[in-house]
Amino acid sequence: MSSGCLICCATVRKSDIGLKFAPTQVKFLETLLFNRSNLRNLPYISMMNERPFTYVIELLHSAGLRPTRQRMALARLLFDEGNRHVTAEELHRDAKKARIPVSLSTVYNTLHQFTEAGLLHEVVVEPGRAYFDTNLASHHHFFFEDSGDIEDIPDNQVTISQLPDIPEGTELNRVDVVVRVGAQAQK
Ligand SMILES: [Zn+2]
Repeated sequence: MSSGCLICCATVRKSDIGLKFAPTQVKFLETLLFNRSNLRNLPYISMMNERPFTYVIELLHSAGLRPTRQRMALARLLFDEGNRHVTAEELHRDAKKARIPVSLSTVYNTLHQFTEAGLLHEVVVEPGRAYFDTNLASHHHFFFEDSGDIEDIPDNQVTISQLPDIPEGTELNRVDVVVRVGAQAQK
C-alpha cells in the first residue's frame, strides 16, 4: 500500500514508515497516510493530499524557495485556478476557508517572498492597496475605483508612444499602466 507523502509528495510505502520513524510516530503517520476516513476529518491535510503537490514544489524550488507546508498551501491557492489578482486579505480569507492555519502577516510575508522570487507581480493601485498578480506576461490593468477591483488589459491594447529617458544607471524592467475608471456621472 502506498500514498503521497504529506511533506514531500514522494510516494511512501507502508513498509518504509517503520524504517524512518520511531514506533510511536509510526501509528500516527499510518493513520494520517493510510486511513482516508480520518483524513476527511482533517480538512487542511485532506486538501493537501487530494492532488499531487509536485508542481508547487517544483515551482518553489525553481524560484529558490524552500517548499514549507505553508508556502505550498498558499501557492496552491494562488496558482491552482489559472490567473488571478489577489490582495493579502483576500488570500488570507481563502486560506481560512480552506482551514489552512496561517496568519495575515505570514500571508503578507509569503506574498512578498513570492514576488521577490519572481512568481508574482505586485500591482499597487493606490496607497495601502496592492494586488498580487499571477499573470507574469506583460499586460496592464483597469482599476475600478468604486469596487476596488482590477481587470487585465492585454498588452497589445495599450500603445505607449513615448517614454522619458530612464535615469542613468538604471534599466527598464517593465511599464505597467493602470487605467482608473469609475461609475458614469448621472446626467
Ligand atoms: Zn493582471
